[in-house]
Amino acid sequence: MTDLERRQDRAPVPSGWDYAPAPEARDIVTLQERYGVFIGGELVDPRSGEHFETLDPSTEEPLAEVAQAGAEDVDLAVRAARDAFENGWSDLSPAERAKYLFRIARILQERSREFAVLESLNGGKPIKESRDVDLPLSAAHFFYYAGWADKLEYAFPNRKPRPVGVAGQIIPWNFPLLMLAWKVAPALAAGNTVVLKPAETTPLTALLFADVLRQAELPAGVVNIVTGDGRTGAEIVKHDDVDKIAFTGSTEVGKAIQRELAGTGKKLTLELGGKAANIIFDDAALDQAVEGIVNGIYFNQGHVCCAGSRLLVQESIYEPVIEKLKQRLKTLRLGDPLDKNTDIGAINSKQQLEKIQELVASGEEEGAEIYQPPCRLPERGYWFVPTVFTNVAQSYRVAQEEIFGPVLSVLTFRTPDEAVEKANNTPYGLSAGVWTEKGSRILSIAQRLKAGVIWANTYNRFDPSSPFGGYKESGFGREGGLHGLEPYLEFDDSKGRSQ
Ligand code: NDP
Repeated sequence: MTDLERRQDRAPVPSGWDYAPAPEARDIVTLQERYGVFIGGELVDPRSGEHFETLDPSTEEPLAEVAQAGAEDVDLAVRAARDAFENGWSDLSPAERAKYLFRIARILQERSREFAVLESLNGGKPIKESRDVDLPLSAAHFFYYAGWADKLEYAFPNRKPRPVGVAGQIIPWNFPLLMLAWKVAPALAAGNTVVLKPAETTPLTALLFADVLRQAELPAGVVNIVTGDGRTGAEIVKHDDVDKIAFTGSTEVGKAIQRELAGTGKKLTLELGGKAANIIFDDAALDQAVEGIVNGIYFNQGHVCCAGSRLLVQESIYEPVIEKLKQRLKTLRLGDPLDKNTDIGAINSKQQLEKIQELVASGEEEGAEIYQPPCRLPERGYWFVPTVFTNVAQSYRVAQEEIFGPVLSVLTFRTPDEAVEKANNTPYGLSAGVWTEKGSRILSIAQRLKAGVIWANTYNRFDPSSPFGGYKESGFGREGGLHGLEPYLEFDDSKGRSQ
């Protein structure tokens, strides 16, 4: 049986429409058997001498071995970053810095197919998402911040902006390259140097990015990439010579980092979890709203911190919305992430799958009603059927906790006040969605929602010029836009600020 036949064999049960398989060619990606750490402009063997396997979560097949960087490797990376900061990068004319960022952006565009395939291989997300969302947005972030590099004096008038120094950046597995771009682009534009740690399960696009830096002839040591698990991240956080930490990931680890840094004077930004409300009023365009609900929670298998995981539907339209949603779910195609028709790819890791399974079991035990469309799961790999819970009480774990999987909890409301109260009834405050035909209602509801990002009649839209970040347990600090530069800058008037 060929590879292609095997994939076809594992395709979901067709629901009336038959798509022919449309796999993206995998051979555009060339992988090394084993990777070192990227320090001082070179991939070198880790001093720790340790490596671990990284997998394709859709097949559980190993893709490569990557380094488990230890304390000594992190120390070398920080030294390389400090050296590059003091001996060239921070003194380089801003227009010259911008040239490197423009080059990186252009190279990402030129190699976007290669990156998209690798992102889907290592992370499990559908190729149409890595191709149409992750890659264009990653390049856009570099273009956007390249434009600011020589305009900082105008962006922050009379404040004398200057770089912070060495930035330690720790990123998650849900948008590996995009989170790298969100962090590296503003840091470099502001004149800092970087030590970056990608997530344990998705290190490969960051390692391919090291090759982009070589192609762009970025001076050695300006960006250093150390792979490894949480221990490597912890070494970066506690290193004395790191001036700023930028972290995206779980609220639990974010809190631990905040405790570790308390009193050190290091700057910190935290982009943590969420449990966003997607609010549908009875005057909303229902078919569009249903598309927004699907995009809100099933995009990237729900591995999205700002996912619209709590659907709040006005009671009078509850039945048609749920009926339309169930019909729509039947059309979603789950399977091979490299197939261009796939809507739902693989869950990123076994641990994440188990976490989703545990929370879904708790929803059923607590009394919620579960709906899953007919769907045949592939035999190997990590998969979860798109799921909707109705009959959900506010107190259920599926309404309170971040599931980070393709699982939607539906609640209802009668009045706008009740919608706002329920939407804000969460420890998080990252994002929200509002669906209504009335512009005045959008404005009044948006003002009362405690969320960093609020979409109106759309969901999961991102733009480099638009700041992103949360309140409460979703963290603090903003990424994107001018706000995203501030945490990477010192100002004459910024003494004592924590960002
Ligand atoms: P983590 O918070 O553990 O991981 C995020 C990043 O931090 C990874 O690079 C991780 O390394 C690293 N890390 C882990 N422990 C430490 C530490 N003590 N000090 C410094 N860095 C550390 O998230 P998980 O991957 O474990 O996912 C758990 C849950 O977190 C998910 O189910 C989801 O709810 C939430 N999450 C939220 C994200 C968001 O975008 N806000 C993104 C990812 C997860 P390593 O990968 O090796 O563990």
